[in-house]
Order: sequence, then structure tokens, then C-alpha cells
Amino acid sequence: MKVLVVNCGSSSLKYQLIDSKSESVLASGLCERIGIDGVLNHTPAGHDKIVMTDPLPDHQTAISKVLAALTDKEYGVIASLDQIEAVGHRLVHGGEKFASSVVITDEVIAEVEKCSDLAPLHNPATLIGVRACQAIMPGVPMVGVFDTAFHQTMPPKAYLYGVPHEYYEKYKVRRYGFHGTSHKFVSQRLHELAGLDSSDSRVIICHLGNGASITAVRNGQSVDTSMGLTPLEGLMMGTRSGSLDPGIIEYIAHKENLTLEEVMRVLNKESGVLGLSGVSSDFRDLIEARKHGNKHAADAVEAFCYRVAKKIGSYVAALNGVDAIAFTAGIGENSAPVRKMVCEYLGYLGVTLLEANNELRGKEVRISTASSKVAVYVIPTNEELAIARDTAALVKR
Ligand code: AMP
Repeated sequence: MKVLVVNCGSSSLKYQLIDSKSESVLASGLCERIGIDGVLNHTPAGHDKIVMTDPLPDHQTAISKVLAALTDKEYGVIASLDQIEAVGHRLVHGGEKFASSVVITDEVIAEVEKCSDLAPLHNPATLIGVRACQAIMPGVPMVGVFDTAFHQTMPPKAYLYGVPHEYYEKYKVRRYGFHGTSHKFVSQRLHELAGLDSSDSRVIICHLGNGASITAVRNGQSVDTSMGLTPLEGLMMGTRSGSLDPGIIEYIAHKENLTLEEVMRVLNKESGVLGLSGVSSDFRDLIEARKHGNKHAADAVEAFCYRVAKKIGSYVAALNGVDAIAFTAGIGENSAPVRKMVCEYLGYLGVTLLEANNELRGKEVRISTASSKVAVYVIPTNEELAIARDTAALVKR
């Protein structure tokens, strides 16, 4: 089955056409600057990227251009649109309503709209993509895959905040967690690679990208994760502060004469390793600047790794031990210095790294020695493939 995977943002749309049987990517691409001017980068598998600059006034036009590119005589990969049998959409917030992927119906759309209060930047944008596809591909089944779904197995002791209970009852203020599609995909692969029995296993997944989160997985289920009501909680990230003393918000608002919204913008867009270093949100730049003696860049990298190690430690306590740990996403897959710095804190777990850690880039491999008491792996995440798998499974039923 050929599945179109769509990941829609407010002015962007990423896509992959995946053959769910062979699990190969037939084409991938990205529409940017939707509603501004418009750029479509389309890459048929095994060929160079084609850049098209036709206007993209809205998401419906973007989808129609993507479909035209996929069926184009010269650089298309399918003969006709009938070959697309299903569309899988990445949806962000499913609240407490969605604990797994679902076939998208009018009722599902209404429920996702209800969750929009919890993700005002993300949910409306993803629904625009759903509606655009429905308008252009009527009758093609669509599936929604939520970032929050995997974490719905967290127990109340992990998801409740220490605030009046009525906030949970009235407004559903609780921890939800994100990156669920990635944490689930990588934890399943980690079980396979480390030969773990998912009826009795304890693993920790470190998804370290521009957004970063860590999940404790017990017997294949998420039991705790570092992001919360929003993706701002937890680790320090590229531009997000991660967890901090909530008192800072009022203090900074007074000192800098900022509104609540302005402080939240600073915490989301101007903080994290970018804010701390004043250099970049990108770890390639930070590691380089640290090498050249930039003190702020060094502090940012060290603070990031320290927090990752502390979070792993807290999850070892929550799980009462750990069998295996995986690193994934942009930094986790590619940055050997970050993995090394984090694992240096894990000596108490008997973790020792192989030299191979230093050479590796984005490959699936064990990086701990055979004698290491806890197995440590690098496992590239593949959220698009995970979405295509769920979509094919639900549509075939
Ligand atoms: P993601 O959000 O998973 O796409 O990760 C993006 C982030 O990964 C970038 O902002 C960089 O900080 C980091 N990254 C990507 N490639 C490398 C690399 N080769 N070395 C270090 N960090 C990298």
C-alpha cells in the first residue's frame, strides 16, 4: 500500500510517499512559506532535489502541487493519484481522548479541535492539512497519529502537577508528553536490538533534537516523560528553556517590563542553549565554538548534558533500574561528544562506551562495550515510517 505521510505546520507542509510493504520512501519533500510566497522542494528517491517556486497561497494549493509533483511525467513516482491508498497525518495534541492512532472522521476532527486550547500553535495547523487533503482526495482514508498518544499510559503520579486538583478537572491541566511517535518507534527497536522481553523490561529513550525529551518505558509502555502540558517542560532545548522556577516568569516580566506572552516567547524562542550561549541553537556550532574556547558555548553544552544525565538518573529511580538506553534525533544520532558527556555521568550504572561512539553518525548501533552493565544504543528515529505503519494497519482492518 502506498501511504502519503503529511506533517503540516502553520506555513509549512512536509511529506513522504511510503510503500508500506517494502517500507521504502518513494519521494519526500517540503512546502515552505505557504501563505507568503511559496517554495516546494520535491525529492524523488535516488534523484536530486527539484525546487519549485510557484505561489502557495494556502495549504490546499500546496497539497495539490505535491500531488502534481508525485504524478509528474518527468519527476513523479506514481502514474496516477489512485495509487495513493491512504494518508497518514501527524497530529500533535490528542489530550486524554486519544491513546492510539485513529481513522480520521468528523467526530475525530471535532475532538482534536477541542484539544486546540492545549496546543494553540500546533493543532489548528495540522487540521488545516487534514482538511486540505480531504478536499483534494475525497474518499481516500486518512489516519491521525498523535504526538501525545504513547504517553497516555502514564499513571496519575507521573502526570499530575502539584496544583489545585480543580485545574485538572476543569481545564485538564496535567502532563501529556510529546515526541510519542518517536519514543514508541525507538523503544520497540531497542527491544529488538537488545533482545529484551517486553513483558519484563525497563528502558530509557533520549530523543535529543532541537526539541528534546526523555521517556521511561516499562514493559513497552511509557510510564513517565520529561515534557508536560506543553513541550516547554523538561530538558533544556535548542531555544526552549525547559523546566525552571516558575517564579522567574514574574521576576523577568517585572525587570524587563514584558507581558506574560512576551516572557513566554522568550522562554520558547530565545532561551535554551541559544539563549545561554548567545552563539546558536545548533549543536554543531556549539561544539565548534566550545572547541575554540567560547565559555558560554561550553557552559550551554555542559548544562544540556548535565540535565540529560540527571533526567536519566531520575528515570532509573522511577523504573527501579534500567536494561538499556537509546539516543535518537538530530543530536542523539549525530553528536558523539554529547553522547560521551552524558554517558560519563552513568558510570554508576556500569556504562562504558566503545571507541565506535566517536566515528558513528546516524547509524543503528550499540555504543556500549560488551561488559557494560546497561546496553546503550544509537537508534535513528523515523516518525514518518511509524505514521505509515499505523496508517496501513488501521486502513487494512
Ligand atoms: P531534530 O530536531 O531532531 O531535527 O535535530 C536538529 C538538531 O540536531 C540541530 O539543531 C542540531 O543541534 C543537531 N544536529 C544535527 N546534526 C548534527 C551533527 N552532525 N552534530 C551535532 N548536532 C547535530
